[in-house]
Amino acid sequence: MSSARLAAARPPALLRMSTLFLRTLRDDPAEAEVASHRLLVRAGYIRRAAPGIYTWLPLGLRVLAKVEAVVREEMEAIGGQEVHFPALLPREPYEVSGRWTEYGPNLFRLQDRKKADYLLAPTHEEMFTLLVKDLFSSYKDLPLTLFQVQTKYRDEARPRAGLIRGREFVMKDSYSFDVDDAGLEASYAKHRAAYRRIFDRFGFEYVIVSAHAGAMGGSRSEEFLAKSPIGEDTYVECRACGYAANVEAARTPVPEPVPYDDAPAAHVEDTPGTPTIDSLVAHLERTLPRDDRPWGAADTLKNVLFRLTHPDGTTEGVAIGVPGDREVDAKRMEAAFYPAELVPFGEEDFAAAPALVKGYIGPGALGEERSSGIRYLVDPRVVEGSRWVTGADEPGRHVVDLVAGRDFTADGTIEVAEVRAGDPCPNGDGVLETARGIEMGHVFQLGRKFAEALDLKVLDVNGKAVTVTMGSYGVGVTRAVAAIAEANHDEKGLAWPAHVAPAHVHLVATGKDAEVFDAAEALALQLQAAGAEVLYDDRPKVSPGVKFKDAELLGVPLVVVVGRGLADGLVEVRSRAGDDAVQVPVDEVLEHVLARVEAAVAG
Ligand code: ATP
Ligand code: MG
Repeated sequence: MSSARLAAARPPALLRMSTLFLRTLRDDPAEAEVASHRLLVRAGYIRRAAPGIYTWLPLGLRVLAKVEAVVREEMEAIGGQEVHFPALLPREPYEVSGRWTEYGPNLFRLQDRKKADYLLAPTHEEMFTLLVKDLFSSYKDLPLTLFQVQTKYRDEARPRAGLIRGREFVMKDSYSFDVDDAGLEASYAKHRAAYRRIFDRFGFEYVIVSAHAGAMGGSRSEEFLAKSPIGEDTYVECRACGYAANVEAARTPVPEPVPYDDAPAAHVEDTPGTPTIDSLVAHLERTLPRDDRPWGAADTLKNVLFRLTHPDGTTEGVAIGVPGDREVDAKRMEAAFYPAELVPFGEEDFAAAPALVKGYIGPGALGEERSSGIRYLVDPRVVEGSRWVTGADEPGRHVVDLVAGRDFTADGTIEVAEVRAGDPCPNGDGVLETARGIEMGHVFQLGRKFAEALDLKVLDVNGKAVTVTMGSYGVGVTRAVAAIAEANHDEKGLAWPAHVAPAHVHLVATGKDAEVFDAAEALALQLQAAGAEVLYDDRPKVSPGVKFKDAELLGVPLVVVVGRGLADGLVEVRSRAGDDAVQVPVDEVLEHVLARVEAAVAG
């Protein structure tokens, strides 16, 4: 994408609609599910080349270059130095880190003519680690932050929503290198602040959430999510304390252990015709009513089985125990077991595990030490002393008053139960709200994982070799173009913020009069000369209606119309967003427009 950078650095050329490589479309592309995708294609910014792979047309490339420029400026402001790696990389470093296997089918793999394995990089931790190892060797060389704005490849299972989830996309990735934990903490804080500035400048609402750290094996990690109903990520937020987390990483407050000295012994009950939690609760209410309160679904322990397939092809069964009023959340499962893929237990899996009685599976059969040998992980609410109604491992029977820690012990706990609005905040008294977002950026304290795997060490003050500690930080650059479009459009088209718009001014000449076109042309050239970027609709035989529709679709923030009013010495100026048209005397229009452009670009 270095060409985009050069394009941005050149003095602006007047964009003439009569010759511009642009066709706006009346109809939505068939496969477009979200507004940004629909509008970016209809307005002629991008074209699909293959599923999840897009071509950038002139106007789109200008927006992309401006978005990249924002990212570059903020990375340079924290001392980041830009490099550029190839996208085509050899297998070896990814083999050493384990990711050649771990990435599984998400990796684009290929071979050269000598049958050596290559990949198209999905992210570059390995290469940055090796580059620094190649050239630096002392604590005096650190701290160091390197970044690139580069094309990434991931064979996503579900490319969707145009630029939002592509299989080829541009990412800004940066990496920090420090000699100790305090250094990493400082580098991370700097990046976090830079990301706040970047996303403030992009002009969409966003939230910073704790993220799941598991995938890259590091410790602290946060995501920047653009708030959007079409986002694939769900996050929780507590108004009272400000806690915010991706649901993948949301913590469940762990209840205190419950005393159980007086608890009755567990007893098995016939529960015919109770295949569902609701029918079981109704049955308990009829046959074994409680003194204190009615039975609820949360009194039951539901055990759900999955088959995991690890990247190396081995498989494993795992049972998850959650309170019966909650489902197991698929995204939380995926995150918790990454990089394994998982599917619910099927008929064959049950056939291979005769100890499990479908519909009546209980802790009695589950666990590495027990008859099924299946790893059993339970929700954190299953604390010592908590009492449950759960399957008795016999058809039509359940066990009541089964006490955790007395009657059964799981192999561990796991955070995969669904998180709901109204759930308690893990930090205190507040309650959680839920909303959706698009992951725009990710900051990650990697620690020493990659440095250890690839042996990146430097000599410290005492001349002792120490392993470097790293951070990795990503911004989805092409995804940002889509997220900005998502946040800035209406039913008629796009409505770009001035500093990322393909031009500052959309100048429309209407009618047939040569005078009109001459005046518009003169104004266009004057604006350009003063530094404003102008998209000039100079098409001679296109109706005003079509021109105005295109202006609305293309979304340049300021629209200037030279037309009928010129006879009275007036030019119309209006913003794309509002119905704020003003008539400006022709000899004042240059100054008027420049002032508005300057104000808009300054934000
Ligand atoms: P996701 O959870 O959306 O798949 P990720 O966690 O795999 O993303 P990272 O590896 O953290 O993504 O990549 C850094 C940034 O790159 C993300 O925050 C996102 O903005 C962007 N990104 C990741 N995958 C894609 C994609 N398929 N298309 C466009 N942008 C992407
Ligand atoms: Mg991420």
